[in-house]
Amino acid sequence: MPPTRRDFIATSAAATVAALFARPALARATARRQGAAPVFTPLRRNIGYFTMQGGTIGYMVNSGGVAVVDAQFPEPAKVFIAGLAERSANRPVDVLINTHHHGDHTGGNVSFRGVARKVVAQAKAAEDIHNPPGAQPPADQLYPDTTFTDAWSADVGDERIAAKFYGRAHTSGDIAVTFERANVVHMGDLLFNRRHPVVDRAAGATLRGWVRVLQGVANDHSSDTLFICGHANTNLPVVASHADVGEFRDYIGAVLAFVESQVKAGHSRAEVMAMRDPLKGFENYGRFGAEGSREMLTCAYEELTTGT
Ligand SMILES: [Zn+2]
Repeated sequence: MPPTRRDFIATSAAATVAALFARPALARATARRQGAAPVFTPLRRNIGYFTMQGGTIGYMVNSGGVAVVDAQFPEPAKVFIAGLAERSANRPVDVLINTHHHGDHTGGNVSFRGVARKVVAQAKAAEDIHNPPGAQPPADQLYPDTTFTDAWSADVGDERIAAKFYGRAHTSGDIAVTFERANVVHMGDLLFNRRHPVVDRAAGATLRGWVRVLQGVANDHSSDTLFICGHANTNLPVVASHADVGEFRDYIGAVLAFVESQVKAGHSRAEVMAMRDPLKGFENYGRFGAEGSREMLTCAYEELTTGT
């Protein structure tokens, strides 16, 4: 039986972050973990992840350095930084990396002021942190000071961290961040564990691009790689396998194929958007019609009918 969505929507948190997004649905989707307890989970070879409110934070603490991937919102970031300091004996963060511009991944950057020595993002993501498409710029922010177009890497202690841009997908500036020796990848919002992804069309999201990006990631990694997801469906883990990356690729491909069959059958945009039943074979993603899934159908319809 597919998991039931019982997440409550914290309206105050949604209001707080509403200004960060082009559409209220995105704000609601990112505010859903408001009130969740902070949890640090060690994963493998000095890499772990932190969940509280917003996109999953990845972290690394080894004898030679400290690195963080994504920052959630300002308040959970403060809780995270306090817990990280306990684990790192109060050392500074050598590098904070943003996987993309969304406020539930970068809003907490500001809490790293005086803590992080360097903030890294893909060039388009950095541009979008300054001026989020369709949304208001942040009032106060610690902006990336190091940007790149296709790839960036650095040695931090005995770990090699490599960030790679595979093309437009969830936004126009998503990267996958690989801890090479640990063989752990932080996927940001390129990977949702069995829930409809947030599709930020205003920021250049493309489902066809997303399928290619996930294939590229799958090609670059192995069956032993662990993948940290930006978000997961209720009661599902935010850590996924190589097979899960392929499954999510197939899900997005199946949505595109379904909408294409509807368009070819002469169905109107409104008829496509009226879809409610889960796709066959992907029932655990849940029904359509709620937040997130509408953007997904809209994006698929527009891509298939306008070619962009
Ligand atoms: Zn996002």
